[in-house]
This record gives sequence, C-alpha cells and structure tokens, in this order.
Amino acid sequence: MGATANKTSRSNKEKTGDGATLPESLLPEVKAVLDGRGEPRYRIKQAYAALAKGLVRNWSEATDLPRPLREALTEHAPATVLDLKDLSKASDGTRKYLFHTADGHAIETVMIPERDRRTVCISTQVGCPMACKFCATGLLGIKRNLKAREIAEQVLVVQRDLAGKNERVTNIVVMGMGEPFLNYDATIKALRVINDSDGFNLAARHIAVSTSGLIDKIRRFADEPEQFHLAISLHNPFENERREIMPVASRHSVSELMSAARYFVDTTRRKLFFEYTLLEGVNDQPRHVEKLAQVLDHPLYHLNLLRFNWTDTGFAATSKRGAREFLEYAKDLGLSATLRPSRGNDIDAACGQLAAKDLQKLQGASPVVPLGR
Ligand code: SAH
Ligand code: SF4
Repeated sequence: MGATANKTSRSNKEKTGDGATLPESLLPEVKAVLDGRGEPRYRIKQAYAALAKGLVRNWSEATDLPRPLREALTEHAPATVLDLKDLSKASDGTRKYLFHTADGHAIETVMIPERDRRTVCISTQVGCPMACKFCATGLLGIKRNLKAREIAEQVLVVQRDLAGKNERVTNIVVMGMGEPFLNYDATIKALRVINDSDGFNLAARHIAVSTSGLIDKIRRFADEPEQFHLAISLHNPFENERREIMPVASRHSVSELMSAARYFVDTTRRKLFFEYTLLEGVNDQPRHVEKLAQVLDHPLYHLNLLRFNWTDTGFAATSKRGAREFLEYAKDLGLSATLRPSRGNDIDAACGQLAAKDLQKLQGASPVVPLGR
C-alpha cells in the first residue's frame, strides 16, 4: 500500500544543513529533554519514528519509549504542535482540516480523493504576502511562516484520519496557504521528513511544490538531491498582463522566469508544470494560447489549466466550454496540456479558496507586506 521512498530518500543518519540529523533538527524541544535526562542518542530516532511513522498524537502511545521518558516528554515537549479544530467534508469526498497552531493561528489542509490517489494539499505560511489578485489567501496578508514540524504534521494528521478507512496518503502538493519559496528551508525540511525512509516514507516523485515564481529559489530547488516535482504559477504569458494579476511579476520578468524554468528542466530532466488559472476575459483568449505556445518551448513543459474557483475578488471563471476550447487550441498548437477538474468547491477547499475564516477574523493580519526573499 502506498509508495515507497526512492533511492534519493535521505536516511535520518545523514546530517541536515545545520549539522543536526533530521530528527534532531525537526524536534529540538524533544532533543533538549533527552539531553537533559542523559538519554542514549538513539532515543531521538525512536521519538521521531513514533511521530512520523507511528503517527502518535500523544507520547503515551509511543510504547517504544520507557514510561518515565514518555511522562517527561508529555510535560516538556508535547507530541503535537497543531490542534485539529474542524474537519469539513465535501460532497465529492474532499476533506478540509482546520488547525490552530500553538500560538493561536489558523491554517488549512485539504485531502483530495481521486480513484486510487489520496492527495494532501498542505500550507506553508499563515496567509501569504504575494497578493495575487484572484486568491483568497493572498487577500489575508501574512502572519508568519510555518515551522517544518507544523508543515509535516499536517500530513501526519491526515494519514491518521485516513488510516481509519484503511487508506494511505499517496501524493503531497504544496499548494495550500502560502508561498513555499518564501519559507524555503522549513518547507524542504518538512518534505524530507515526508520522504525519509525512517520518517513518513513517501517517494519524492509523489511530492510537488507550487511557486508563484521566485526565480532564485527555483534554481535552488532544481539543485536539491530529491526528485521533487515543481509547478510554476504562470497565469499569463504576457509581461504587462501578468503584472496586473500577480505583483511578483514586477520583480521577475517572464523571460527571467523562463530562464529559471529552463535551468530546472536542464538540471533535473524532470517534467515541469505550469499552473494556469483561467479567468474570464483576463487570460483566456486565443492570443494567450498562441503566446503560451511560444513561451513554453521545451518538451518537458506541461500546461496545467484550471478554471478559477470563486473567491470574492472580482474575477469570474471561464465557462467550461471556453476552458475546453482553450485546452484544444493549446494541444493543436503542440502544447502538452491538461484541464484539471476543481475539487472541494462546496466547502471552500479548492485551490485559492483557503482563507481559514478564523484567520480573517484575527486582528492585525497585515493586508500586504513587502515581498521578502
Ligand atoms: N503560493 C503558491 C502555491 C499555492 S496556490 C502558488 O501560488 O503557486 C496553488 C495554485 O492555485 C496556484 O497556481 C494559484 O495561483 C492558484 N489559485 C489561487 N487562487 C485561485 C483561485 N481562486 N482559483 C483557481 N486557482 C487559484
Ligand atoms: Fe500566495 Fe499562491 Fe495565493 Fe499568490 S496564489 S497569493 S502566491 S497563495
């Protein structure tokens, strides 16, 4: 059942960039308790395995650990950092999980069932500072980056939920709240835990990250040893028009973005996905297809079309027929392209709709902050 980690999966014996092993760097509070008690070194691996493989939500369930240690951990280093506040279920089987962080922020995670796939869409920030005009998360502004453990734990909670139905998470997409490449290190660390054969053990090729197009990070991501997939949110091939809906486009031109894209495929030889949300009258005309056919000039490029999911941002979705025509024209012009069905709309769980109602109510969510690196 489920996928196994591939060759590039890192064992937790390997060091992370900061000199610590993956369990040590993911669980510093646990390490502090272990060090304080003079516990043997292997205990951190046991604690990590209890969380990432055993899916325990309470140290009392971690029966590999001696009871006095479990009690000390319960007191000083809780087994969970996210509190599941609500679970909504859509008519198509999509599930949306609302979490609170320990410091009271709200974030959302979505599970999308599709034939034998169970895809989990995870968040990397509380809100998002990128301010794309059509996106509900973008309207919120940013409160803070999530920690690696908060990112990884979203997957563990969903798996624990699915395990009750004898199902397994098969795919991860980093397409929830936030711009993952503004929280690069924590996102990669979390994905390593998910990929790690001593952790959650999901193959890297079943994990995809979506970015609005931060070019330095696209190159850095291409150089990572794991075979993670990448999606770039393009949404318009014309420079001026892209700038109108995505402020990030004022920072990086389409040609700069495409040279980072070229670096990714040349370095990894992996397929590269371009996300394209069809907005009525904005980016859905034949001239857009024609320009896309010029810009997406590599056989490893794939165009992922998606109809706009309603958010209160003043945009409208291209009709189903219009979307199909756009797709057909793209294929006629030689593009590799698909039209993705929208899921979870009736519980506001579709792409771009995540806006944790709790978060909207929070005082002080800054509407827009300058784009950091
Ligand atoms: N911040 C990252 C990943 C999260 S958004 C990014 O922007 O790539 C995941 C995808 O949903 C992106 O392609 C985003 O542009 C798109 N999206 C945002 N709002 C949407 C909406 N209302 N309808 C459809 N897609 C939307
Ligand atoms: Fe942020 Fe992505 Fe929404 Fe843009 S589309 S505001 S980058 S979450």
